[in-house]
Formats: sequence, structure tokens, C-alpha cells
Amino acid sequence: MNDLGSVSVSASPKEKFREYLATRKQRLTSEREIVVDEVFDDHEHFDADELTFRLQEKGKKRVSRSTVYRTLVSMEQAGLIRKVARPNGKEIWEHDYGYPQHDHMICKKCGELEEFHNDEIKSILESVAHTHGFFMDGHRLEVFGICTKCRRVPKRSHNKLDMI
Ligand SMILES: [Zn+2]
Ligand SMILES: [Zn+2]
Repeated sequence: MNDLGSVSVSASPKEKFREYLATRKQRLTSEREIVVDEVFDDHEHFDADELTFRLQEKGKKRVSRSTVYRTLVSMEQAGLIRKVARPNGKEIWEHDYGYPQHDHMICKKCGELEEFHNDEIKSILESVAHTHGFFMDGHRLEVFGICTKCRRVPKRSHNKLDMI
């Protein structure tokens, strides 16, 4: 999933989070640090429950589900992660900080998110914005449909008619 590369950033996500929390007179507690480390371990889409489960599997039981939820919201406000919609209603998150602009194709059947980047879409949107006298500094696009895996017709077992 990480074929979009990355954007070079001056501060690590953890540093950026620490700075943000300081502006809110909050500290990067060990619980928050565990969450930010786990989230930025590798780029993938995740939901809060999956993340809580992963932390518990790693024996980090002292980070409660509600701490995970609250920390994710703070991380969103700090500009580190963003919410990505998903048809099954679960809130899915992903890295924003240090990750290039991209859009998503969302499978309505399995909920799989596929990332893509297309410069033509960006320039079309920029010209649309321009005609509205709007200054565009970003966009978000969600394409809904059925993914390759779900479109694949299940293989039938050999039946005599096929052999003729
Ligand atoms: Zn699918
Ligand atoms: Zn993504």
C-alpha cells in the first residue's frame, strides 16, 4: 500500500504531537506515546478498535480503548492523521502527516480502501475552483464501487459440461 512514497518532513510525528500538546498545555504521556508510535509504525488504514487490539496483543494493556479514541482525536487535531470514510460506518484513520496527497477507491462489498494519486484530477479540480473564484489548497475524493477481488466470479467446480 505504500507505493505512493512519502513526503519529507522536518519533525517526527512524535515531535509534532508533543509540540501540539504543549500548545494545549498537555503532555505527551507514555500512553499517548505508545499510541503515536503504533500508528506511525507503518502506513495502513486502521480503526480505533483494531489499534486497541494490536496494542493489547503487544502486551500494552494499560492503554485503554478510550485513551486510544481520545488520542486519535488529538492526533487528528495536530494534523497527524485524518479520518477516511468507509461504507460500513466504522471510522477509518490514516496518516496525513508525511504522507503524500492521495484519494481512495472504496469497495462497497468488503470495505477495502485502495489508494491512488492522479495529477489530472487535481488540475481539473483546480480549474473548477478557479472558475468559482475559489483558492484550492487540497481535496478529498472517494470513489465507490466493487474491488477486483469482490468482482472475481468464484470458480465453479469442474462439471461435465465444461469438459466437452
Ligand atoms: Zn471488495
Ligand atoms: Zn489512504
